[in-house]
Amino acid sequence: MRKIAIYGKGGIGKSTTTQNTVAGLVELGRKVMIVGCDPKADSTRLLLGGLHQKSVLDTLREEGDDVDLDEIRKEGYGKTLCVESGGPEPGVGCAGRGIITSISMLEQLGAYDESEGLDYAFYDVLGDVVCGGFAMPIREGKAQEIYIVTSGEMMAMYAANNICRGIQKYAESGGVRLGGLICNSRKVDLEAELIEALAESLSTQMIYFLPRDNMVQRAELNRKTVIEYDSDCEQAGHYRSLAKAIDENTNHVVPTPMKNDELEQLLVKFGLYG
Ligand code: ATP
Ligand code: MG
Repeated sequence: MRKIAIYGKGGIGKSTTTQNTVAGLVELGRKVMIVGCDPKADSTRLLLGGLHQKSVLDTLREEGDDVDLDEIRKEGYGKTLCVESGGPEPGVGCAGRGIITSISMLEQLGAYDESEGLDYAFYDVLGDVVCGGFAMPIREGKAQEIYIVTSGEMMAMYAANNICRGIQKYAESGGVRLGGLICNSRKVDLEAELIEALAESLSTQMIYFLPRDNMVQRAELNRKTVIEYDSDCEQAGHYRSLAKAIDENTNHVVPTPMKNDELEQLLVKFGLYG
């Protein structure tokens, strides 16, 4: 089973990209569990048709430790298994700790057992790097393969570089590796070239360039992935291609983060800064 975590700046498109890519993996015949690790609990909405999924932490708070797998794991589009970890009460506790509690609970209840036949577990992790909690799934060895969603906007690239610092730190002691950057386009000039160059500096690859397309919003308003909403549209094809690229990816590296001034020099080179 491959355990994959999706990181990236807040609002960059992690939850949307993860669910759409998972829909593509389902078409390839893969069995996937997706675990939302964001207190917003919006990581499985498109796969569950907008159904409100009760989070693991809320279930534990209300019912104690005697929880059934069916209470916290719902079947969604294409037999995907959907879990929302939830979060601590606002202002109290650590979101990263909550994620580990949830994943440990899933482990105890047998969600990762061989008999479940999972090919993938996907973790849609909290947005910005605000504290050590963000790295919890990496630090605790729960996620082994990371993809970073970015665009050619400076702050998204800045966050990608910071996330690489976190991965590098734990790659040395654990087995976590970076699988690539997913460019979720914001229509920045020379965006593909820029993210290719960023990827090269980080010793990784741009695994896919996803165009910006209003079809994503249309599908979202209908609480569906693009693949389910309009299977023949171009954007559905892009998510299928990204799913295939991840399924076939063997490029797993320890990233080499840049110094902030090196990152700025890259932007200057592309005429975007300075
Ligand atoms: P957060 O950090 O808050 O969890 P996120 O990184 O998970 O955010 P999303 O919620 O997936 O981001 O996406 C933010 C918005 O961007 C969504 O409303 C989505 O419709 C839109 N979006 C994402 N990708 C695309 C795209 N390729 N084309 C058009 N719109 C997109
Ligand atoms: Mg999200």
